[in-house]
Amino acid sequence: MTTLAGKLLRIDLSSKSRCEEEIPEAYYRKFISARGLGAKYLYDELNPGINPLSPENKLLMLVGVLGATGLQGFSKWVVMAKSPLTGTIMRSYTGGNFGVWMKFAGYDLIIIEGKADKPSYVYIDQEGVQFLDASDLSGSDPRSVQERLKDRHGHRTESACIGLAGEKLVRYAVITSGERTASRGGMGMVMGSKNLKAIAINVPVRKITAFDEGKFKGLVKDQISMLKEHPRRKKMNSLGTPYATVPYMKRGILPVRNFQEGSIGNIEEISGEAFYKIKKEKAGCYGCMTKCGGMRDVKRGPFGGSRIDGPEYETIYALGSLLGITDKQFIIDANAMCDYYGFDTISAGVCTAFACELFEKGIITTSDTDGIELNWGNKDAILALIEKIGKREGIGYLLGEGVKRAAEQIGGETALYAIHIKGLELPGYEPRAVKGYGLSMATSNIGASHMYGRPKTEMAGTVDPLTEEGKGASIIQAQKEQAIEDSLIACSFGNSGLDFQKYSEFLLAATGIREFADVANLMEVGERIICLERCFNVREGLARKDDTLPRRMFSEPLREGGPAENQTVKGFDKLLDEYYEAAGYTKEGIPTVEKLRDLGLEEITSIVN
Ligand code: SF4
Repeated sequence: MTTLAGKLLRIDLSSKSRCEEEIPEAYYRKFISARGLGAKYLYDELNPGINPLSPENKLLMLVGVLGATGLQGFSKWVVMAKSPLTGTIMRSYTGGNFGVWMKFAGYDLIIIEGKADKPSYVYIDQEGVQFLDASDLSGSDPRSVQERLKDRHGHRTESACIGLAGEKLVRYAVITSGERTASRGGMGMVMGSKNLKAIAINVPVRKITAFDEGKFKGLVKDQISMLKEHPRRKKMNSLGTPYATVPYMKRGILPVRNFQEGSIGNIEEISGEAFYKIKKEKAGCYGCMTKCGGMRDVKRGPFGGSRIDGPEYETIYALGSLLGITDKQFIIDANAMCDYYGFDTISAGVCTAFACELFEKGIITTSDTDGIELNWGNKDAILALIEKIGKREGIGYLLGEGVKRAAEQIGGETALYAIHIKGLELPGYEPRAVKGYGLSMATSNIGASHMYGRPKTEMAGTVDPLTEEGKGASIIQAQKEQAIEDSLIACSFGNSGLDFQKYSEFLLAATGIREFADVANLMEVGERIICLERCFNVREGLARKDDTLPRRMFSEPLREGGPAENQTVKGFDKLLDEYYEAAGYTKEGIPTVEKLRDLGLEEITSIVN
């Protein structure tokens, strides 16, 4: 036995057909699972230049090799496709139970292709796959959809679904499972473009058995004992990611008012401790004792009177400081409204902050905003705007396109205020205050992601965050490590106390694949995945010009940035050269033929010749 299912389910919505296929063992050896496997299938199966909203795009759902076992923090799952927001390869992680149910159903990967002729959902149980009418679910929020599918098919049914934003093709719509969302890059829009409201699985829970079950059980036991006492787990379990708000502001990392400033008054109101005080219940993913989430009461909006799991640090930034707000109840209510419609809080916050800055500068007025006074901190106005984005009405239609396209449509100098990389809106990390992090986001193959390669030494303060030299090699290394963790799905918040030697032991005991015993080989897998993702983008026409930061980072000194006061990014070209050299890419940011051969990717060398 092995923890790998070895099988994928291919669903064609156009022909209402399905088939199972074996996943070659060589793919696991070269890409592990999850993100690595997804990159392989997307590269091989998507023709370059396809419209991400066409039936030719494919939506991939993947679980990790260690998911649904007793190991803690390995049971998240990932959605991948060509992104309608960035035009690049995209991967978006989430929790909820859906991924585990995929594993119980016997699949490491589900590929959804084609387009249904009317609103539909797919239901999978032990009898097979059914294509069912979803017209009665149309327009419903993700929580109601999941409840109704449980009522209809049984309480063991777990589903992944979209809200109204996905149906209305908001470019940053999410896919929801339980209380968690695959938030980034518009994976919910791809699902909506396929007329697919939900995919539901109802199968019995089953034991996932490891190759060396005795050894694996021992490793699980050791991890649980270690985690019980681990200080990072305890901190994440109590405060969760909101712990970062105050310390990040002290370092100038927390963006304020659309990245104009790095400091906001009343910050203690939105500190980790302040959110801890109003946490009502613990929350988190299947098979994770870190449980970094927390249920909190919603007061306003369609989820008013209920509770949501949130907010995370990223939402506190995007719907709080970025909009000039330090009201924690407002942030919870705004988070709940984004969840109700089903779109990404980061992208929504950045688009809203962009509109607020244009309003402040008089570039747009109430005649452009359907009468909404978009002053910084105007909470009622921001909730009204979120509703408009969800329904894609008026100004909400434009902002639902994402900040890059919104700026292009308004024109003039507005691109200066559009804070994105490759079309993906920035998370809560100020590139002028953490230069290595800026480089990591700029070179990320999915756009501005804070989870593509976290510069641990810079964030820990052991490397000067303001230095603009000597960071290329450490950033490519951080990206390799993230690619490995994403491919065995070690949650970045739930992997306390683990290192790559430990991952290697887990993988070997779980699968029996000898290559996984060698950490150097794992690093090569990480590098191979990044290279393959880059080649996907090269094939789409991306190059050095796209590995950049928002213009503001180069031209405007950061105001009120604490230790990063008055910082701009000056030596970016040099940083980029260092990164490309360390990665084995040309000056244009394209992997060399030699690099591809070294990584066993000789079959794709023609695209870089
Ligand atoms: S640490 Fe948090 S996000 Fe990670 S698996 Fe656990 S509950 Fe989920």
